[in-house]
Amino acid sequence: MAKRLDADVCSIYLIDSDMQHLTLRATQGLDSRSVRKVTLGFGEGLVGLAAQRGEAVATEHASQDPNFRYFPETGEERFESLLAAPLIVQGVTIGVLVIQTAEPRHFEPADVGLLQTCAQLLAPVVTNAQLLALAGDTEESRSASVSEIVEHGIMHGPSGARSEHNVELEGIPTSRGIAIGPVYRLETPLDLTNLDYSPSDDTEQETQDLREALAEARREIDGMREVVGARFGPEFEAVFHTQIQILEDHGFVSKLEQGVAEGGNALTTLRSVLDAYRRTFERIEDPYFRERGADVEDVGKRVMEKLLGVRHHIQPMEPGSVVVVDQVYPELFAKLEMDAVAGIVAEHGGETSHGAIFARTLEIPAITGVSGLQHEARTGEMAIVDGGSGKIYLSPDEMLLAEYGRAQREYASSVEHLDSMRERPGETTDGRRISLSGNVGLLNDLRLVEQHGGEGVGLFRTELLALAHRGFPSEAEQDQLYRRVIEMMGTRPVTIRTLDLGGDKGIPNIGLGDEENPQLGCRSIRLTLENRRVFLAQLRSILRASASRTVRLLFPMISGLDELREAQRAVADAKRQLSDRGADFDPDLPVGVMIEVPSAAICADALADECDFFSIGTNDLTQYTLAVDRGNERVAHLYSPLHPAVLTLIARSVDAAQRADIPISICGEMATNPLAVPLLVGLGINELSGTPSQIPLVKEIVRAVDSGEANRDARRALRASSVQEVHAIGAERLRAAGLLEHPDIGGWLQRIVEPILGKV
Ligand code: PEP
Ligand code: MG
Repeated sequence: MAKRLDADVCSIYLIDSDMQHLTLRATQGLDSRSVRKVTLGFGEGLVGLAAQRGEAVATEHASQDPNFRYFPETGEERFESLLAAPLIVQGVTIGVLVIQTAEPRHFEPADVGLLQTCAQLLAPVVTNAQLLALAGDTEESRSASVSEIVEHGIMHGPSGARSEHNVELEGIPTSRGIAIGPVYRLETPLDLTNLDYSPSDDTEQETQDLREALAEARREIDGMREVVGARFGPEFEAVFHTQIQILEDHGFVSKLEQGVAEGGNALTTLRSVLDAYRRTFERIEDPYFRERGADVEDVGKRVMEKLLGVRHHIQPMEPGSVVVVDQVYPELFAKLEMDAVAGIVAEHGGETSHGAIFARTLEIPAITGVSGLQHEARTGEMAIVDGGSGKIYLSPDEMLLAEYGRAQREYASSVEHLDSMRERPGETTDGRRISLSGNVGLLNDLRLVEQHGGEGVGLFRTELLALAHRGFPSEAEQDQLYRRVIEMMGTRPVTIRTLDLGGDKGIPNIGLGDEENPQLGCRSIRLTLENRRVFLAQLRSILRASASRTVRLLFPMISGLDELREAQRAVADAKRQLSDRGADFDPDLPVGVMIEVPSAAICADALADECDFFSIGTNDLTQYTLAVDRGNERVAHLYSPLHPAVLTLIARSVDAAQRADIPISICGEMATNPLAVPLLVGLGINELSGTPSQIPLVKEIVRAVDSGEANRDARRALRASSVQEVHAIGAERLRAAGLLEHPDIGGWLQRIVEPILGKV
């Protein structure tokens, strides 16, 4: 390290067993007699400060820094500049890696990055070494020492010794249900750019190392492909197939081997081959092929890790763990033993991220956008995750544990009981029929629509296939997927939405570039209209599926009549192409418009005249009406589909649909919001579509409500002056309908309603 960073000193300090002090344990450059003698308190001196803050500390003039501590035994007066990075394992600081220079030096961000990366690599090595050092001991003393390290060194670091109970954090409720279990933290991935690499002197050996790295990467991808395929369905294996193809590609491998033979360095060869590929892919016009560049990069990074000998230290997870992460990336589901995961909590991200949708599919309680989470949560401490309210409690006391244990049991038995009554219709007390269907994106979701009694698929989010592929899926792949959906749903209706990419559903290399404002940029129908070849391929595929006569076609994010007409022209073209090929399809395939941009709701009359149905996407309608980014946890408190302005736009769309005599449904998350359900019924909505697991809850609410009363509530809500007022109207209806005493859902509803009615 000292050599690489051109420093005079490099030292390692480790935390003592008393968990209060750091001791110098190894040094290059300081007086070696000071090893094990120099000790400083946690938070003391610049080294202690790095440990306490859990982040790097850099200073050009250490002696002038108020935090500087001087130890004569090290001969330290000779060193002017200092850079320290903490060694962190499972979120707890176990030591500090330090470099010092005699000449004053301003540390560049690259120096800080390199030291941090090395500290990240070193931390688990140190812990493992501590464990290995015990290997010679007797079985008894070894296990005692191991528990000592685990108990004190890792699980309860100085920042981990928590005396308070019920530490409450809040985020965006992302997947309902309650999880109670020990915290399991996942470390952030390594930044490889700063790592150093020494090639072998022997070119043969270097070539051999490269081949081994390629083979190891291949084995890893194979493993992930199997896991993801088994969990989410075969269509999700596709991304791994592509990566395997790249590793087996003769051109790719021979370019690498040739480069090593000429230059003798596998890493620089890999980097330059990847750069050349990246440039080539960037120049490809066809977006489908252009996006394959991302796969090459991904594969390259994996091979690089193998060359550098990077190992991912995934600690064993206790069954029933609450996983704490920075963001819920889809990869997580391939990496972790999902059977052991009880809940997922993320510091960043919104409820509509791809990973969040996976969590909902697996019915794992999840919360996203929890600020302060990674600072607070400690490995091993108990946590309660309430995916319904978005609350997390760390180190809960006995009382809270008992309360949530009860709630968890109630939740499980209620879901079971309600599922057993799935055949009952969704009908108000005065006999108005409300159709209840599910939103799906993965084949697995269809099983849940069945289990929870959905009457069909109200929204099929086809972009999930694109997200899995990280690019536009091919026509053949879509044919296959839609055919399976239709088969699985039998005679039940399926509404297939065209690709809704961009915005928060960005994928690399589909021509989006770096938009400053992606939610207002080239997303959704705008992107598909720009990529007409891709759009036509999808329309042909949906039309072929429509031969079953159970399909409806839906356009997302239509903002005005011109856009609808352009999309309709593409449908006409696709029909013509299919007719020319003699393919079978439904010539009267119903074509619907999503109302999710305020302009569409305002101009709903014009749109209603030229389409067959409306489906209101309240997730986006709320975002665009209130100017609140749906994925930004900072403004989440302002995001409410029950805002009178949003209700007004819904009412306007319903009126237009009724005038034109076309059906209208809701397919945003609002459709399963207990406070909203009676109001939506009251506004005249006849179909609600949401996360499959929520269908039984919505059905019980619908079955307890009188549509005349719901209509009066809706009229009042439209005149309300605040979200709180609307919440109170919704809550009062749930209470008056006797739903708070409902044997299955009464408990959940009370938790939602009581704080509202209490405040009124
Ligand atoms: C919506 O915006 O409400 C919607 C259903 O679409 P998505 O959540 O996929 O954007
Ligand atoms: Mg939307």
